[in-house]
Amino acid sequence: MATSGQDLHHTATGPGPDHGVRPAGGYAPATRAVVTGRPATDPQAPLSPPVHLTSTFVARPGATGPGDLVYGRWGNPTWDAFEQTLGSLEGGRALAFASGLAAVDAVVRQVPLGGVVVAPSASYNGTVVMLDDAAKRGLLSVRWVPIDDTEAVEASLAGADLLWVESPTNPMLEVADLPALVAAAHRRGALVAVDNTFATPLLQRPLELGADVVVHSVTKYLSGHSDLVLGATVTRDEALGQRLHAVRTQNGAIPGTFETWLALRGMRTLALRVERAGANAAELARRLHGHPALTRVRHPSLADDPGHARATAQMSGYGAIISIEPVGGAEAAERLCAATRLWVMATSLGGVESTLERRRRHAGEPEVVPPGLIRLSVGIEDVEDLWSDLEQALTAV
Ligand SMILES: *Cc1c(COP(=O)(O)O)cnc(C)c1O
Repeated sequence: MATSGQDLHHTATGPGPDHGVRPAGGYAPATRAVVTGRPATDPQAPLSPPVHLTSTFVARPGATGPGDLVYGRWGNPTWDAFEQTLGSLEGGRALAFASGLAAVDAVVRQVPLGGVVVAPSASYNGTVVMLDDAAKRGLLSVRWVPIDDTEAVEASLAGADLLWVESPTNPMLEVADLPALVAAAHRRGALVAVDNTFATPLLQRPLELGADVVVHSVTKYLSGHSDLVLGATVTRDEALGQRLHAVRTQNGAIPGTFETWLALRGMRTLALRVERAGANAAELARRLHGHPALTRVRHPSLADDPGHARATAQMSGYGAIISIEPVGGAEAAERLCAATRLWVMATSLGGVESTLERRRRHAGEPEVVPPGLIRLSVGIEDVEDLWSDLEQALTAV
């Protein structure tokens, strides 16, 4: 990736061009995840970015300019270090938000009043609920589509303002044809947003495939330790970046400073975690595939998975989420989730620890998700320990 996060970052009204964040363009992603956003390596300087706990900054006499550190809702050098690193990995200018959904909201607010959004019928339930609510209030209208059906998506794009894409989708693991959808949406003048939470920028970089903006639930893989809630947007479009920054500042959906610091700390090991969890997931999917207690196993690594070819073409790995459907539906799924010992029954995903959950236990989950579907978030534990626990639980039900 040729783009330096540094250049893009400092083009807009960020918290200032010069508080020691140094460029790291040119290095491989795994290296940039480690070295970007560090303070300058001056003698006696700290190696890791400090936590700047402050609500305001000592004023520079005169009028305030775009690069000035002024007030804590406008910017903070600790946010900057996190944003610099994520921006470098995705290839754009990153902005941290209070949560993944605050980042989704900032993008949805770019749709004009009465505009049209095309969105996946099976995607993260918080996004579905948000769009549904905005439609009910008459702010916009939504055309729900099966995002892995390129023709169906194309057919619904006439007059659309925003194409919302999630790939792979949560929790169905459908893989969208990103280059084809980007081209189709741009032909009709629609903005393309991609929720890249499941893939992370190490496995998929939608901006390089032409998307206008990427959204993350940083809560998941990027921070990686199930210890915070945070979100982010990333874009190369300078004007869009400034509008997103304005939404964040005006609406106050700002990140917690300590959360951005923890998220950056988590991102330092992103490459290791994504690699290990992905290898674990591929091995577990292989063993689960064809298990007599299951009617369906989905992971894009499986050669006969409907998303396999696309994932192979546009991603550099298959991620670490698996979905399974046990024989016996919702009831068997509940028993399976209760029968594991190492795997923890919990919502959320992307942490170092393996978790599982029957998604339809949440009232807001789209009805296209089968009632018995269990989403497995594979962590970085020993794969044999993970397998024996799953196997004993499958036998028990
Ligand atoms: C969790 C999640 C979100 C929402 O993020 P929060 O940090 O919980 O607000 C959005 N998209 C996807 C794909 C998610 O998994």
